[in-house]
Amino acid sequence: MEYIGLFGGTFNPIHLGHIQVIQEVKKGFGLDKIFIIPSALPPHKERDSLVEAGDRIEMIRLAFSNHPDFAVSDVELKRSGPSYTIDTVRHFKSILPEDIELYLIVGLDAFLEIDTWESYKDLFLMIPFIVMSRSTAGEDGTVYGPKTFENYLKSRISGGYKISASQSSYIHEEKQPVFVFNVTPVDISSTKIRRFIKKGRPIKSLVPELVEAFIKTKGLYL
Ligand code: ATP
Repeated sequence: MEYIGLFGGTFNPIHLGHIQVIQEVKKGFGLDKIFIIPSALPPHKERDSLVEAGDRIEMIRLAFSNHPDFAVSDVELKRSGPSYTIDTVRHFKSILPEDIELYLIVGLDAFLEIDTWESYKDLFLMIPFIVMSRSTAGEDGTVYGPKTFENYLKSRISGGYKISASQSSYIHEEKQPVFVFNVTPVDISSTKIRRFIKKGRPIKSLVPELVEAFIKTKGLYL
């Protein structure tokens, strides 16, 4: 059996926060491979400062050039229209052998809006989730504790979710399990990086060296 993770996002740009947490997920769940999937038109995000998909993909390639277990997928960039996760999951299910176990990796902040995603109910029938929880305050001072997650899951997704005996996941009779995984809090976001660049502040500690060089050479986010 092979275990594969799917990790979507805007990656505008990819940063050390993303890299740190998905390495932790990979190790924690014994995943063989993780696909990083940049979205073309993120349905939820402002598009002003969004750099070209080709540049975002290139930065992901550079970030993982020494990590063969991480691959970038351009599936959402090849599709026209907004990027819906449901289509991406269907795509991977159709191209991968049946004995592969797929997991959808999402940050807790993204998960807490999942009832706004296209066909989200079907998503819970199709693929187990790994929700990355960071238990410190976010930039806006919000703190999401385990209770927030559990309330959301039960009230907005399905009251049938119950915590498993091992307490590592929420299980459901008809739906796929949802695992909650604590990751090391890293106070980095793409927004922060774009802000730093606009102010002329260094981003050395926020992105891999090759990504920093690429951003500089191409004059991105100025
Ligand atoms: P932006 O600041 O532009 O909103 P972002 O840094 O949150 O971007 P995304 O590309 O939207 O980056 O992130 C993809 C996924 O990575 C999301 O599920 C998000 O929750 C998660 N993520 C982003 N930064 C971190 C971080 N520092 N630690 C853990 N997860 C993160």
